[in-house]
Amino acid sequence: MIDFELEDEFRKKLDWVRTFVDEKVEKLDVLWPSPASPHDKSLVEARKILASLQREVKDRGLWAAHLDRELGGPGYGQVKYLHIAEILGRTNWGSVVFGCQAPDSGNSEILARYGTQEQKERYLAPLLDGEIYSAFSMTEPEGGSDPRYFTCSAEKDGDEYVINGEKWFSSHANYSEFLIVMAVTDPDADPYERASMFIVPTATPGVEFVRETGVFTESHDERGGHPYIRYDNVRVPASAMLGPRGRGFEVAQSRLGGGRIHHAMRTIGLCQKAIDMMADRAVSRKTSGVLIKEKQSVQFDIADSQIALHQFRLMVLHCAWLADQAGRERELRAAISMIKVASADVAEKIIWRAMHMHGSLGVSNEMPFAHMLFMTGMLGLADGPTEVHKVSVARRVLRNATPHEGFFPPQHLPTARAIALEEFGLTEETVNRRG
Ligand SMILES: Cc1cc2nc3c(=O)[nH]c(=O)nc-3n(C[C@H](O)[C@H](O)[C@H](O)COP(=O)(O)OP(=O)(O)OC[C@H]3O[C@@H](n4cnc5c(N)ncnc54)[C@H](O)[C@@H]3O)c2cc1C
Repeated sequence: MIDFELEDEFRKKLDWVRTFVDEKVEKLDVLWPSPASPHDKSLVEARKILASLQREVKDRGLWAAHLDRELGGPGYGQVKYLHIAEILGRTNWGSVVFGCQAPDSGNSEILARYGTQEQKERYLAPLLDGEIYSAFSMTEPEGGSDPRYFTCSAEKDGDEYVINGEKWFSSHANYSEFLIVMAVTDPDADPYERASMFIVPTATPGVEFVRETGVFTESHDERGGHPYIRYDNVRVPASAMLGPRGRGFEVAQSRLGGGRIHHAMRTIGLCQKAIDMMADRAVSRKTSGVLIKEKQSVQFDIADSQIALHQFRLMVLHCAWLADQAGRERELRAAISMIKVASADVAEKIIWRAMHMHGSLGVSNEMPFAHMLFMTGMLGLADGPTEVHKVSVARRVLRNATPHEGFFPPQHLPTARAIALEEFGLTEETVNRRG
C-alpha cells in the first residue's frame, strides 16, 4: 500500500518545526553565515543562543530525530525524518540546532554499530547529547574517491598503534573532540582489507593542523571547516580501533549510506527555498512594463525547477522507505547511489536558475546564493563524487542486460516482426487478411 498521509499529531510537530526554523533558526544563518559557524565554539553569543534553541528542540522531543529510541531519538524512522530534515535543509544551522548534523550523525551510527562498551560510554553518549563534536578523517590529499590510494598508516607497537600520514577535508575536525581516522594496518592484504578505523582524541600529541582549509570565498585567515591534518607519530592504545582490523572500508560504507540519504533530504529543503525565492522575485520585479512572472522563460524556469524537485523528493522518499525496511540492503544501496547523483544535479540547476533570476543582486554578496552554490559543489563530491556513483548505477543496470546474437537487436522491427509472425503461425500475406 502506498500512503503519503501523515498523522495529525506529527503534522502539528512539523508545523512547529517550520515556524521555529523560519522565525529563529534562519536568523542564525544571517548573523553567523560562515558554513563552519554552527560548529565554532568560540562564538560566545551564538553558543548561548544555540544552547537555548537546542533546549527547546529537546523539550519538544525532536532532538536527534533521525535516531531510533535506543539511541535517544524519537524512533520516527527515515520516512518521517525526511519531513523534518527537508525543513532543516533550508538553513545552515538547522541540523546542529536539532542534533542531527553531519558528520556526527554518521559517526554516531558506526560507534553504535561497531563500538565497544567503553568506546560507546566515552564517545557515543556525549556525541548524542550534543555535548561534543566529532570528525571523520578518511580523505587524503593524494587519494579521495579511490581509497586504494590511501597511505596514512597505523603500525602496531606493543599494545599501541602509531599513526603517520596526512588527511584532508576532515570536516569540523578543528571543533571536534575526537577523530575517526582510517589508516592502513595491513598493507599486503587485498586492497579493500588493508585499512582499519581508529578513534583518535583530537588533543593527542602529534595531531597537527596544517591548515584550516575553507571553501570558495572564505579567506585564508578565517577558520575554515575542512582541515588538512598531519598525523605525526600519533600513539593510540590498541583499544582505540573501531570495528575489526582490516575492515575499515566496511565501517566507512556503513556510515556513508545514512549520511548520503540525510544530505539528499536536506537538499530538498534547500531547493524548495531557492524555488520560493524565485517565485517571490518573479512577482516583485518588473521589466519592460510587466512583472517578470509574465515572461514565459521565467515561468518555464519555475516549472522545470518544481517538477525536477518533485521527482527528486519522490526518489528520496522511496530511498527513506527502503532504509526503514529490513532486508532491503541491496535495493537501498542502488537507491542511495541514484539520489546521491540526483541531489547534486537537481540542486545545481535549481539554485543556478534562482541566482540568475535575481540578476546582479543574485551574484552579489548581499544574497545567500554563494553559500547555496557551495552546497551543490559539496553534494557532488562529499561521500564520493558523482561519477563513482554513476558507475555503480550503470553496473547494476548492465548486470541484468542480455547480449543479443547477430547484428540486429531484438527491437529491430523486421526481426521482431518475423518472430511475432512465427509465434502466431502467420505470414506477411495472412497477417492483414480482412473478413
Ligand atoms: C564540503 C566537503 C566536505 C567533505 N568532508 C569530508 C569529511 O568530513 N571527511 C572525509 O574524509 N572527506 C571529506 N570530503 C572529501 C570527499 O569525500 C572527497 O572530496 C571525495 O571522496 C572525492 O575525492 P577527491 O576530492 O580527492 O577527488 P578525486 O578523487 O581527486 O576526484 C576528482 C574528480 O575525478 C573524477 N573521478 C574520480 N573518480 C572517478 C571515476 N571512478 N570515474 C570517473 N571520474 C572519476 C571526478 O570528476 C571527480 O570529481 C569532503 C569534501 C567536501 C567537498
